[in-house]
Amino acid sequence: MSGSRFYITAAIDYANGAPHIGHAIEKIGIDAMARYRRLCGQAVHFVLGMDEHGLKVQQSAEAAGISPQQWVDEIATRFEAAWRRLAIGFDDFIRTTQPRHERAVAEMVRRMAAAGDFYRGSYEGYYCVGCEAFKREDELVRNERDELRCPVHPGREVTWTHEENWFFRLSSYQDRLLRLFDEQPDFLQPEGRANEIRRVIEGGLEDISVSRARLPWGIPWPGDPEHTVYVWIDALTNYLAAAGFPDGDHERLWPADYHVIGKDITRFHCVYWPAMLMSAGLPLPRHVWAHGFINFGGAKLSKSEGVRFELEELIERHGPEALRYYLLREIPWNGDGEWSLERFDERYVSELANNLGNLANRTISMIERYRGGVVPGRRQEIKDQQIAAAVLRYRGVMDANLLHQGIAAAMELASYANGFVEARAPWAQAKDPARAAELDDPLAALARVVATLATLLQPFMPVKMAELGAQLSLPDPVPLDALTGLDLAGRPGARGPVLFPRPEQEKKPTK
Ligand SMILES: [Zn+2]
Repeated sequence: MSGSRFYITAAIDYANGAPHIGHAIEKIGIDAMARYRRLCGQAVHFVLGMDEHGLKVQQSAEAAGISPQQWVDEIATRFEAAWRRLAIGFDDFIRTTQPRHERAVAEMVRRMAAAGDFYRGSYEGYYCVGCEAFKREDELVRNERDELRCPVHPGREVTWTHEENWFFRLSSYQDRLLRLFDEQPDFLQPEGRANEIRRVIEGGLEDISVSRARLPWGIPWPGDPEHTVYVWIDALTNYLAAAGFPDGDHERLWPADYHVIGKDITRFHCVYWPAMLMSAGLPLPRHVWAHGFINFGGAKLSKSEGVRFELEELIERHGPEALRYYLLREIPWNGDGEWSLERFDERYVSELANNLGNLANRTISMIERYRGGVVPGRRQEIKDQQIAAAVLRYRGVMDANLLHQGIAAAMELASYANGFVEARAPWAQAKDPARAAELDDPLAALARVVATLATLLQPFMPVKMAELGAQLSLPDPVPLDALTGLDLAGRPGARGPVLFPRPEQEKKPTK
């Protein structure tokens, strides 16, 4: 057991549509978290995947005239392609129709049954097909025609349903769950979200129905093949299955360091899931991080419902890395944020093309022009303190998963360096033969800033920052701890293709 492997998971996406920007920001954010840990020298295991069972999948497949398996295969291919396009560096892609997952779920059910936590009961209530969940009346709202509707799926009817099911004794875990939140105040992050869940638990927990009698597209209930395992035991167990459970070596990864989820599914990850793990006698994840949503002109954009965005169009607009940058810069990772196409264009030009792109370009072209394409030896110049301060600030906020602030710390260093270039005007110095030798210092300092930025921004723009680092002959990436002692003297510096072409250049790629 290594003990130091950082296991981070994304909520698996429901296989019932195309990947959209709500799915994308989650994966991009987790990828940045994972890449940051790698920059810190940690071994990371990052898993994402697909939730492929359930009534909606079955219905969609029927409507398309194909088998549910064909349907989910096709959707999984599309999601995986989108994540590769966005340079999401995942280590594993788990699908709940895989045999390894079905084995894990069956073992989970057996363990919970052995703990005496299931009983047969009858369930009746309103059922929302959109949520695939029974709803209490107080969880529903009335529309203008006085019909009861699920607030998340106002366009779908809720139906009164009765069936015999297996129930999980969630109610008996109330005390242990409260103790969890007492003993581990940082179990659910960001700060503040735990109070909400505490109130849910304090309000009393009802047992939950965990099987379905009339849902063939699911994992058969061990020992009761008339039933299939209902969505939450099925879906949540993916985190264990991806770690290799029930085989012994799952302890190499489990417990997870972070489950990163959208805030709409916090209750399932912070009440149901810990209770299920307690029942099965398994360790709990160390942290759950519940990120917020993108607001789009006032409308909420969650994983399950909301404005559909042509993800591909947004990727095409300024390239995949610019989209990654914009989303994590604009939408706070610990809260909600507003999407705006205008802001995207604006930030692309002012921050990526003008600030960062310009700094990189002018630094490396001066090294080419004035120093024959070789980074000069460094001498003491003002930069070192600013660089060290920026790195320190960056690490502090990144350790706290405040990704948007991590970008801000890096970009402030870029702005500072551009200001330094303007004030120092090395090109003027270069024209004066008496002072040309003094150019070594500012050029060495600027090269150091550029190298630092290539590392700090690597979690956000891994492909572009590798290109930038290559312009200074740097390895991809330079780990954070190696930045301090990094010696750039004598390295070849040569410009590559423009990192962030301005929109007018994007249209006319030749110069
Ligand atoms: Zn619903």
